Amino acid sequence: MNKADSERLTNGVMQLGYKSVKRAEDADIIVLNSCVVRGSAEDKVLRKLSNLKALKRKRPHVTLVLTGCMVDSNIDSLKTGFPHVDFFLKPQQFSELLEYARSNYSKQGHSPEPLPSCSTPPGAFIPVIQGCNNFCSYCIVPYRRGREKSRNPEEILCEIRSFVQAGGKEVTLLGQNVDSYGHDLPDGPDLADLLQAISTIDGLARIRFLTSHPKDMSQKLIEAVASLKKVCEHISLPAQAGDNEILRAMRRGYTIEQYRELIQRIRSAIPDVALSTDIIVGFPGEDLAQFERTVSLLEELRFDTVHSAAYSPRPNTIAARKFTDNIPDDEKKRRLRQIEALQERISAEKNALLVGQRVEVLVEGKRAGKWQGRTRTDKLVFFTGHNDYQGQLVQVGINHAGTWSLQGKPVFT
Ligand code: SAH
Ligand code: SF4
Repeated sequence: MNKADSERLTNGVMQLGYKSVKRAEDADIIVLNSCVVRGSAEDKVLRKLSNLKALKRKRPHVTLVLTGCMVDSNIDSLKTGFPHVDFFLKPQQFSELLEYARSNYSKQGHSPEPLPSCSTPPGAFIPVIQGCNNFCSYCIVPYRRGREKSRNPEEILCEIRSFVQAGGKEVTLLGQNVDSYGHDLPDGPDLADLLQAISTIDGLARIRFLTSHPKDMSQKLIEAVASLKKVCEHISLPAQAGDNEILRAMRRGYTIEQYRELIQRIRSAIPDVALSTDIIVGFPGEDLAQFERTVSLLEELRFDTVHSAAYSPRPNTIAARKFTDNIPDDEKKRRLRQIEALQERISAEKNALLVGQRVEVLVEGKRAGKWQGRTRTDKLVFFTGHNDYQGQLVQVGINHAGTWSLQGKPVFT
């Protein structure tokens, strides 16, 4: 979501005539888009903010902006803590900065330039529902991003049509809880209807959506993914834990039996589906037997990707108020390493099955002399080839598989 917000703000200022630069020292405007989902992310922003003090002293005309989830309603205390920051903007509330950037641009005597003719990247993130109503006990998101609000479907379609007209090929629909899209729109579409409508856009090749909540994943949505050709067979469905007592304390709203049954239904409807999940280890009170149930779940369900994190108490969340963070850091790290090692093996085994197969790759760019892109199942592929493949859909024969990526050569038919 932050990446999507940063892209939108960047596009906004570039349309005013600004250009992006590589080094902070060369910038007129510096925006830090903060994440506070875990303490470690927040610490990183705090370090950056303090590093920028020296730069602001050297170049006082630089406009320093803090946005993202660190900015909540108590902007006054942020102002006291970080007097060198010029603007504090709540997530996605960019208009104040854009106004300022517009007037400052002409004040600095820049001549109006033609709009930058930057080439459109092949993929774009499209936020379709903001906020979250779930209040999982560990999570700060609903406090900082507010309640769920679905965007108007016409506005979404319009945005995707212009992206495709500019050359775009793939969209990823975003929401903290994307599968609850539309429940707040009277007589409006749900996510399955929205996918159907987006599928009719000519020139668009792929549609993805992130992140789904298990309790909101309907059979109708599963069938839409199975039947709509442009919708990629790739679903992100965070389980968070493999033990019912922990799931209840997390307030996730499902049992592990329900989760397992859902995965089975998805796999039987969409045979080659790639599944990813998120796991939190070391939730307050998680004993070894409970942790091992999470490990067994991952062994049993064999996800393509697992994002794991150590529990981090967040201010004012239910878990931080009610429970003591009683699993030592070393033990959290040990559990994380155990899950990572298991998943590395599973990912490598799953990738190895693709050797000798042909996959469709949407090329995003070049790295170290090789073309780089992703399959419909979101696997990273590198391949060599002399043609200009930028932004193209290429059939690639896979001849090597590792844990994190695949390698191959274009197949000409
Ligand atoms: N809406 C999504 C994810 C939102 S946050 C969902 O419901 O799953 C992204 C991930 O950060 C979560 O899936 C969770 O695994 C992790 N996370 C959130 N709060 C956390 C916390 N307090 N400590 C550790 N990990 C956390
Ligand atoms: Fe956080 Fe839960 Fe909402 Fe995801 S569903 S954003 S974990 S409160």
